Amino acid sequence: MKWKQPLLSLKPYQPGRTIEEVKKQYNLEEIVKLASNENPFGCSPKAAGAIRDFSSLLSLYPDGYATKLREAVASHLQVRVEQLIFGDGSDELIQIISRALLHSGTNTVMAEGTFSQYKHNAVIEGSEIREIPLVDGAHNLPAMLAAIDENTSVVWLCSPNNPTGVYINRDEIVAFISKVPKDILVVLDEAYFEYVYAEDYYDALALVREYENMIVLRTFSKIYGLASLRVGYGIANEAIINVLDPARPPFNVNALAQAAAIEAIKDQDFVTRCREANIKGLEQFYQFCEEHQLSYYRSQGNFILIDFACDGNEVFQFLMERGYIVRSGVPLGFPTFVRVTVGSREQNEGVISKMKEFLAAKATLA
Ligand SMILES: *Cc1c(COP(=O)(O)O)cnc(C)c1O
Repeated sequence: MKWKQPLLSLKPYQPGRTIEEVKKQYNLEEIVKLASNENPFGCSPKAAGAIRDFSSLLSLYPDGYATKLREAVASHLQVRVEQLIFGDGSDELIQIISRALLHSGTNTVMAEGTFSQYKHNAVIEGSEIREIPLVDGAHNLPAMLAAIDENTSVVWLCSPNNPTGVYINRDEIVAFISKVPKDILVVLDEAYFEYVYAEDYYDALALVREYENMIVLRTFSKIYGLASLRVGYGIANEAIINVLDPARPPFNVNALAQAAAIEAIKDQDFVTRCREANIKGLEQFYQFCEEHQLSYYRSQGNFILIDFACDGNEVFQFLMERGYIVRSGVPLGFPTFVRVTVGSREQNEGVISKMKEFLAAKATLA
């Protein structure tokens, strides 16, 4: 077969063990999954209500333009409907952007220690990848700027950054974007935007108005609690959307996802409640880290990356055997860390008590 060569360097997706398998293996009654930054409070009851009576419509193709969802999102954000593109999750938008702009002979600039899909898609497209190490969990924007040359097609920014939770502030992002050549697309992935509370956070939509070479990605998977339905969207000026849209499969966002997302975006009270609970949840983890002198990054997302100063897989394994699934930092490029999704207050207390047991066990061994 005449495969694209770079594809042969990638491994097939390795599914993690299911919750049922883990329960059985370790003889656990209950498992709390704090591994994928899902919303511990589920989704808005209004969103769930929207898909309950859907069975009679399953035989129909979805609206390929997601017209009603488009109108709901445009109205919420105060942008024009022509400024939006919808994806089967923002993952698909990353794929569409990569397909539209990357190929061998181009290069793409991103942080090292960020969301894995930017690199994954760039590899498939045969683009050269320029990864710039984070500094204290933050994008090193001056170094990223220096890495740009005439063959650069796309620059990826993730704010708040997954997995560190560190954000880019207003002055930093303006200083950066204003210096990026206008024929290079800056992708600003804001999957955790609705969780942000920092006062010097920028207004991404104002940046889209000012800079014609920028697209902002957001998702219904995180605070909106609709990860299983797969809806993400991009916001940019019309000229960018017009070129990207033909690279989008025609029925990429399914009808249930559209129906639920329309109700979800209308229920901003749910979003506010989740953001406030998350801020309190982060405090629980900060306090634990301070008490035990563990380094961590202050996060603007619904997750926290904690340095246990030992093999992250070991912490992961210890917690899993006790009913808590977190993410080891090893595959994320942070080998001594684990990333924990902020859960409900009780879930946070639970995982923190097991982390304390881990530290106590380590101390006795030492
Ligand atoms: C979760 C996540 C996504 C993917 O979101 P989907 O809309 O579910 O595909 C994209 N970017 C970042 C940084 C994420 O953490």
